Amino acid sequence: MAGEPQADCLFCKIVAGEVPATVVHETDTVVAFQDINPQAPCHVLVIPKAHYRDAVTLATEAPALAADVLREAGAVAAGGKVDETGYRVVFNTGVGAGQTVFHAHAHVLGGRGLAWPPG
Ligand code: C5P
Repeated sequence: MAGEPQADCLFCKIVAGEVPATVVHETDTVVAFQDINPQAPCHVLVIPKAHYRDAVTLATEAPALAADVLREAGAVAAGGKVDETGYRVVFNTGVGAGQTVFHAHAHVLGGRGLAWPPG
């Protein structure tokens, strides 16, 4: 069923506390934690606690929860003081775009110059 935890999902295991993560903030619906392989001075992942395979599926099936993720991304940027200089919110979607974990997540990246177009 949509949103239900998946036994083989790494991020569902982080939500359940079965896999460790450095959590920076948590609400009833989302968790923000440090990316284990940071690509910028600020690199935090924001995930919905419920399982959706990617950001578009999340936005389609649970739009209020997608808004929670984006709101939390903004809060993370403000908390990390990267909101003044600018930051990037990235949803890699699909294998070809670099998605490796199929539980929707926003990368919040900032604290350095961010080139455009992205690689
Ligand atoms: O967009 P993508 O699916 O590739 O992002 C997954 C991210 O999850 C990676 O940036 C990876 O470093 C991160 N990760 C993590 N903690 C884990 C496993 C992966 O922060 N235990």
